[in-house]
Order: sequence, then C-alpha cells, then structure tokens
Amino acid sequence: MTDQTDFPDYDDSNIFARILRGEIPSHKVFEDDDVIAFMDVMPQAPGHTLVVPKAPSRNLLDADPAVLAKLMPFTQRIARAVKKAFEADGITIMQFNEPAGGQTVFHLHVHVIPRHDGVGLKRHEGGMEKPDVLVANANKIRQALKEEDA
Ligand code: AMP
Repeated sequence: MTDQTDFPDYDDSNIFARILRGEIPSHKVFEDDDVIAFMDVMPQAPGHTLVVPKAPSRNLLDADPAVLAKLMPFTQRIARAVKKAFEADGITIMQFNEPAGGQTVFHLHVHVIPRHDGVGLKRHEGGMEKPDVLVANANKIRQALKEEDA
C-alpha cells in the first residue's frame, strides 16, 4: 500500500463472506438487509458479538461511507442489547484494520464486548467457546433486543 486510497482487493473467500452466503453456520443474533450480528466463536468475554455489514469491504479503510453511516447506529443497538443481556458495567468496541492493525478476517466487522468492573479481556482469538454456550448467549441477546424494541 502506498497511500490511503491504495487498498488491497476484497477477497470473498473470507469466513464472514461465507457466513453471509450461508455456506457455514453462525450463532446469529440479528439480521436485516444491510447487517448481520453473530457471536464471536473465540469470545474475549461471554457475549462477545460481531457486527458485520453485508456490503463487501475489507475493513474500515475501503468501506463506503454510506455503509459506515448505517453501521454505527446498528452497533449502538447491539451494544445496548449486549449490555442488558449480560448485565455489563460497560462495553468495549474494537475494530481492526489490516494485519498490522490486528485484523485476521478481511471483511469489515466491529467487535462488541461486554465488560464487568475489574474483569480483564481474554486473549484475542484465545480459544473456541462451546457451541451450546454460544447458543445460550445468542438467545440472551436476541431476548434483550426484543425487549428494547417492545
Ligand atoms: P479480527 O479480524 O482480528 O477483528 O477478528 C476476527 C474475529 O473473528 C476473531 O475475534 C475471531 O474469534 C472471530 N471468528 C473467526 N472465525 C469465526 C467464525 N466462523 N464465526 C464467528 N467468529 C469468528
């Protein structure tokens, strides 16, 4: 990359593109025409959720600003539901760009992580969570979203 407009190409073989195409499963908490939110399989805290715009972009750097304009309000909605579902004291939002920035999956996504006072984060990509735990956590967030919408 030589300047800020010289981005690597989007590669639709990445794992989130495959989830979006329905080729591999995910523990979904919400989906509409523009975005999907599902559980991170290697959570840094219980309830760690990923918010993913459906429009293809590698990360924040090459994303269409119109996509970003929808992404932040949606991230807020998920963050509020995650906070409620996990009775969190706070929420950490993370978003990584390019390998040097810590990115490992090259489809734009935002991490939403519930935090509790005095509890540290587990390591990024530290270990796989059990599927039944992810199912239960996704259900909690879905319920909180319903309550927010009520
Ligand atoms: P990063 O690209 O560094 O922002 O992080 C990618 C995140 O995706 C990591 O936190 C992984 O645990 C998570 N991840 C990788 N594969 C999957 C998958 N199949 N389903 C859900 N989360 C995943």
